[in-house]
Amino acid sequence: MLERPRIIDVTRKPAKCPVCGERVVDIIYGTGDMTESEFLLEYRCEGIMGGDNIPRRPPIWACSCGCKRFRKVNPDGTDAPVKVKLLKDVRKKPLSLICWTTEMASTNIGFNRMMLVHQFEVAIVTEFDEKEKLRITAVNGEDAEDEARKLVALGNIGLKGRQCISVNVYDK
Ligand SMILES: [Zn+2]
Repeated sequence: MLERPRIIDVTRKPAKCPVCGERVVDIIYGTGDMTESEFLLEYRCEGIMGGDNIPRRPPIWACSCGCKRFRKVNPDGTDAPVKVKLLKDVRKKPLSLICWTTEMASTNIGFNRMMLVHQFEVAIVTEFDEKEKLRITAVNGEDAEDEARKLVALGNIGLKGRQCISVNVYDK
């Protein structure tokens, strides 16, 4: 059987993986033994972990399922100058870009009762003094506050703290 190459030469970032159709994301180097899900939780963006060994001709993009990696080349096939993305240069995506929906709100959305559903902005402070703003779709302010406390307690938003020492709910 013919062995297909793991690395494909491309002249620009492919819109999707030509093999499996998945999204193409950046490879992040300098990641040690960090896993993709640890990275997603901490930095809130997708990436494929390149580890600490940067090859001499490094691929810089990968299929999000990991099936193929992509190396940038010039149209004549020679190596294009690339800048590898290092973990230390990755900035966390703000939590406010993500919108959570409470169970009560999604039940109402399911029944198309949109007038019972509202957008809230919830400002929280954890016991480690981490301050974040969350966007939560809920049926009322209390529901939004419960959801914020639950997200923090479950460690679902990549914070160190597990408790909210302060919660302020604002109508959007
Ligand atoms: Zn793929």
